[in-house]
Amino acid sequence: MVHFKELKLDEKILRAIEQLGYTEPTEVQQKVIPVALQKQDILVKSKTGSGKTASFATPLCELVDWDENKPQALVLTPTRELAVQVQEDITNIGRYKRIKGLALYGKSPFARQKLALKQKTHIVVGTPGRVLDHIEKGTLDVSKMEYLVIDEADEMLNMGFLEQVESIIKLLPKERTTMLFSATLSDVIKKLSSKYMKQAVSIEIDAAEENAPDIEHVKYVVREELKFSFLEKLTIIENPDSCIIFCRTKDRVEQLVDMLDEKGYTADKIHGGMMQEDRFEVMDDFRRGDFRYLIATDVAARGIDIEDITHVVHYDVPLEKESYVHRTGRTGRAGRSGKSIMLATPHEDKFVKEIEDYIGFEITTGAELSPEAIAKNRTAFDLKMQEQPEVKESKGAQLNANITKLYFNGGKKKKLRAVDFVGTLAKIEGVSADDIGIITIQDTVTYVEILNGKGPLVLKMMRNTTIKGKLLKVHIANK
Ligand code: AMP
Repeated sequence: MVHFKELKLDEKILRAIEQLGYTEPTEVQQKVIPVALQKQDILVKSKTGSGKTASFATPLCELVDWDENKPQALVLTPTRELAVQVQEDITNIGRYKRIKGLALYGKSPFARQKLALKQKTHIVVGTPGRVLDHIEKGTLDVSKMEYLVIDEADEMLNMGFLEQVESIIKLLPKERTTMLFSATLSDVIKKLSSKYMKQAVSIEIDAAEENAPDIEHVKYVVREELKFSFLEKLTIIENPDSCIIFCRTKDRVEQLVDMLDEKGYTADKIHGGMMQEDRFEVMDDFRRGDFRYLIATDVAARGIDIEDITHVVHYDVPLEKESYVHRTGRTGRAGRSGKSIMLATPHEDKFVKEIEDYIGFEITTGAELSPEAIAKNRTAFDLKMQEQPEVKESKGAQLNANITKLYFNGGKKKKLRAVDFVGTLAKIEGVSADDIGIITIQDTVTYVEILNGKGPLVLKMMRNTTIKGKLLKVHIANK
């Protein structure tokens, strides 16, 4: 067994990984981290759920030079949700090294991102369209980009982003390390890699090695007009703690969520027609466990990493066989078991057959939803409907527990710089530079993260300690 300690990582990175609860590196991490630390190009075939985000986030956090103000690493992701998730993982892993990650994605104010890019940023994570936009407008300086990661490359192609990805690559410095991750290695992806990568090390994580997730697959044939009443029975029998129900279109999502709502289910929805901020909010609420049933279209749920989803229901058969794998991959994550249940109408045999050919096995026909089974489970189901779902801790909860973000009412206009804050705070008795996290200096305010539970002490002392001769107002930041 390999330990993270053997991977030649900085103590600051190891401490963050430990606090994230990762005891040993996953297969993909064992293989990718040492090669990435050597700054070699890598082509990785691996699915989501295998720990691949940390396999590139860890070496990136290790390799970037903290003192450099311009961004040094760019991670491209197919969706906005994934961009935010990757940025959060980077922030968690790089917490003690004070790595600043920033997510850039569309449908969100450009001006705010432009402002954020003026701050020291080590790693940028974004969707191709918006990243290209920033590079072309000169708001994202790529002159120091030493590392490029293309995440979920197959999804990127499916979504028609190839051209934008290539345009971005051409604008980056030639001297760089490139890592490409994909669940499948099609010819287009191989071509992309040979065109833009140098002697790439090829790493394939076999499905078997990938601790194949423990997912039970079942299917039912249900006529369209009977689907809803079937779903009701199914949920009584399965009585899921946390379930995603996939529909083909956003109208179907809207309809279904209303119907479930009316029946007293705790349900919410996510689809591409919603505002980005609303999408994030729904995902956060679902992640926290505020409701049990998330009704979704394919696009909105790609790459989403939420632990403890017990059931995935395909209320509509996915039209693309790959979507079945993506949908199903939302359950059985991080070593847990899960169940995938597909409802197919009598005319949809050929889609089901295509999916079965693709996944390489026949999906079992589910057990009959008998009146007896329903009667037997009714009480437990009703109980669960009434009780509030258990609130889940976020991945970085332990890491974040000891962090206090402080607000100071002075910034660039008062000529304050990060060194001024570090210099002053580290002089407080019992506080060292290691206790200071990310510092964000804006025109008139500054936010400083205080680590290791030292927040209250710093807050108390800074009420009457000056910074560069100025006494600033200080309090705990609102967010
Ligand atoms: P990913 O494939 O990057 O989407 O990661 C899947 C899940 O595994 C995420 O919830 C990670 O937080 C978790 N994870 C990543 N690396 C490890 C590890 N070494 N030990 C335990 N969990 C991990």
